[in-house]
Amino acid sequence: MGQLFAVEVIYRGVFQKTLAKNIRRGIVLAARNEGKLGISFGRYGDSPERNGIPAKGFSIVANDEQTLEAGMAEYASKQVDLTVVLDDTLCKGVESWAWYGLQPVHSTLKPGHTLIVVSLQDAPTLLKSIHRREQPYKLGIVKGAASFSGMWVYKDDHTDVRILGAIAKVLPELFSLESAEKFINEKLKSSLKAASARTEFERFATVDVKAGQGNPEELFKFDLPDWKDMRGGVSIKGQPQGGPYADPVTKQAGGFRPVRNELFKKYPTRTMRPAVNFATCIKCTQCWLNCPDAAFDVTPEGTYDPNLESCCGCGICAEVCPVKNCITMVNESEFHGNDSQWAEFRKGKDAYLKRLETIIQKAEPIEKRSNGFRYRGQYQEQIPVALEIAKKG
Ligand code: SF4
Ligand code: SF4
Repeated sequence: MGQLFAVEVIYRGVFQKTLAKNIRRGIVLAARNEGKLGISFGRYGDSPERNGIPAKGFSIVANDEQTLEAGMAEYASKQVDLTVVLDDTLCKGVESWAWYGLQPVHSTLKPGHTLIVVSLQDAPTLLKSIHRREQPYKLGIVKGAASFSGMWVYKDDHTDVRILGAIAKVLPELFSLESAEKFINEKLKSSLKAASARTEFERFATVDVKAGQGNPEELFKFDLPDWKDMRGGVSIKGQPQGGPYADPVTKQAGGFRPVRNELFKKYPTRTMRPAVNFATCIKCTQCWLNCPDAAFDVTPEGTYDPNLESCCGCGICAEVCPVKNCITMVNESEFHGNDSQWAEFRKGKDAYLKRLETIIQKAEPIEKRSNGFRYRGQYQEQIPVALEIAKKG
């Protein structure tokens, strides 16, 4: 048996589908320039691709046919040599479909190997989100905002080739920089993109992450019944209705909190979160009525509090709210936790509103951060900014 390499690419469904595919293809074709064989595939079946949902794909490369076949026999690689994460909000965990709970981004990474994340944040900040694990690994950052595009439009901001440059640096046994450049020059026909790969290769660095270092959060998980334990007939559990809940200050019960699905929390799909100004809310109910995920709790005060375990970050509430800046979609990577915003507001109104003001000031426009293609010309505007970041690092 020869040497087998497996690379996992974790990305946001639809918004980064083409980007992930281009990276996986680039890995295989760069390795082919060295006489290796490979295949890339998306892991479908268990995780149908939807807007923003954490999704995975793999590149499998080997130096002989027999080894490649053995590697391909696995439906999804259980041990990978490299994990690439295309949006840093995925570092909070991956829940691509509702049957295994939340998984850390490095769940399949071999000990001592490298996790590459596209981010504008530094390693200590990312490690507040990335769950701790028992084996050490290396963390490297490709400096940049998450590159989002759409199903039929692709934002060619060089993220794909920058990742190839970083891979050539940390896993030269898979392919060299020269092989990556050959692929870019011959197949992508862009000397500018080849230069971007080289720039990333030259500056890419990793930090060592020790065993036990990182986010201490317990990942939610559950045991699925074995087929022998399943009941006959339809076995979808009925959902209880929910009811009033207590004001954290007065302890008086009121409002309405629906009971939510404990097996599918939806928040790993979110790249932006709604930040609510409860002081200006006019209780019009529009956000509650229009939320596709029934994510709002009706507070005992009659305002509406997005339950952040259920919110997928679609932004509809912010679009329909009639009060200016009452709901603002803000970058998810600024937060570490899903605590109730209303509880925080009740405990200290002034402190909450001050924090909200700072958060809103830092908020990026929605078309930059998420939700794919919004208007004609959007990507042409965004690409020069992305290339500037790529140049400076
Ligand atoms: S962003 Fe707003 S509308 Fe969308 S799921 Fe979250 S709370 Fe509901
Ligand atoms: S849409 Fe805006 S104003 Fe209306 S209830 Fe929701 S947060 Fe309040």
